[in-house]
Amino acid sequence: MKRIVILGAGFGGLYTANDLCRYKDKFEIVLINKEDYFTFTPLIHEVATAGIRRRNVIYPLDSLICNDRLKFIKAVVKSIDLKNKKVLTSKGNFKYDLLVIALGSKTNFYNLDKNLCYELKTIKDAKKLRKEVFNIFETASKEKNINEIKKLLTIVLIGAGPTGIELASELKEYGIELIRLGFKNLNKENFKVILLQRSDRILSMLPEDCIDKVLKRFKKLNIDLRFNSKVDKLTKDGIYVNNNFIPAKIKICTTGVEPNFINLIPNIFDKGIKVNSKLQVNNYENVFCIGDMAIHINPEGKRTPMLAQAAVQQANIVAKNIFNLINNNELIDFQFKKLGFLLSLGQKFAVAEVLNKHFKGFFAWWLWRTIYLSKVVGLKNKLMLAYDWTIGLFRKRYIKNSFNTSK
Ligand SMILES: Cc1cc2nc3c(=O)[nH]c(=O)nc-3n(C[C@H](O)[C@H](O)[C@H](O)COP(=O)(O)OP(=O)(O)OC[C@H]3O[C@@H](n4cnc5c(N)ncnc54)[C@H](O)[C@@H]3O)c2cc1C
Repeated sequence: MKRIVILGAGFGGLYTANDLCRYKDKFEIVLINKEDYFTFTPLIHEVATAGIRRRNVIYPLDSLICNDRLKFIKAVVKSIDLKNKKVLTSKGNFKYDLLVIALGSKTNFYNLDKNLCYELKTIKDAKKLRKEVFNIFETASKEKNINEIKKLLTIVLIGAGPTGIELASELKEYGIELIRLGFKNLNKENFKVILLQRSDRILSMLPEDCIDKVLKRFKKLNIDLRFNSKVDKLTKDGIYVNNNFIPAKIKICTTGVEPNFINLIPNIFDKGIKVNSKLQVNNYENVFCIGDMAIHINPEGKRTPMLAQAAVQQANIVAKNIFNLINNNELIDFQFKKLGFLLSLGQKFAVAEVLNKHFKGFFAWWLWRTIYLSKVVGLKNKLMLAYDWTIGLFRKRYIKNSFNTSK
């Protein structure tokens, strides 16, 4: 019986595993991931700002794995011996006949000191950020020095990509809510969210009218978006931008991601892993790589974007190609199809491009939620999220408990 080993249980790996289970062929599937849960990343900015609960984005893998032919191993992958068809992990070595590498990506800090800023990549980052913002507001509420208060209440995000834009919007609303509900002595005029963008435009993948809507929303939320802002250096108390100093306690790197490094024997890792049109690693027909780690260039010469929707589409093709390879059928090419673009800008407002139609406001936000709800894996998880979101329509953020526990 052929053994298929899948590394990483994110959008690429988990969906490949579940897609493979649909084939009746006789093969054994081993799925290896360092955590025993799957993270639905498109919603973690809402966890970081107490908009939804942790349980709405984290799902235990055993509840998502569809078949008992599939064996899950919780382990850290250390290296891959491509020559001897072997994966080395913290729980021992695994031989494979076919391999799928889908270990995702990490924050790209672009030489900034990562110990002086926050990031938003995992659920742990989201929890840490939410706690830190709360603690800093609490400290500010006890502070007398106005300059110190302003520094504590200034949050700077570096990078105005989709994550920076969504997080800035949510943080602005979260902070205002913290002041309104608990830290009433703080003046909301002193609370600032600054979003720095290195270039002179944002969201190049979106049409102009959608970008206009984002900019108008930012004006309404009073988010300070600064173009042509080159960050020189971070310090404990602020950030140097274009040779000027901005005092700020919380700095968040939303600069984008880069593929996770993995030790390969022989070493063919080069800022990711290059794959052919069938998603096979160059020169290794039994090894596939997908998701954020894969460097797949489309016929127009563009790299497939690092998006969950791309990883899921690739998972589907890889499952088919594994079946084809085992059965000596011809393999099929992968072609990324952009399904649309959704951007939430705080509670009850979003900008969306779906099937070439543009939406904004509450309807777009409703659409945003409905589409993401349909993408959440597992019926129980869908129902739980739908319930929490419905309750959330009538209540404020999940911050009351933080006030109680901090007393
Ligand atoms: C904040 C945020 C918001 C996003 N929003 C969107 C969105 O709205 N729409 C969209 O399309 N995309 C979005 N993305 C991008 C999307 O999350 C990624 O493109 C997608 O997750 C890539 O899938 P993947 O399978 O390559 O990696 P992942 O989904 O990250 O999965 C990789 C898995 O490998 C595991 N792993 C890593 N290293 C090891 C190791 N050494 N050993 C064992 N396991 C390991 C990880 O724990 C993880 O479970 C967002 C990303 C972030 C960070």
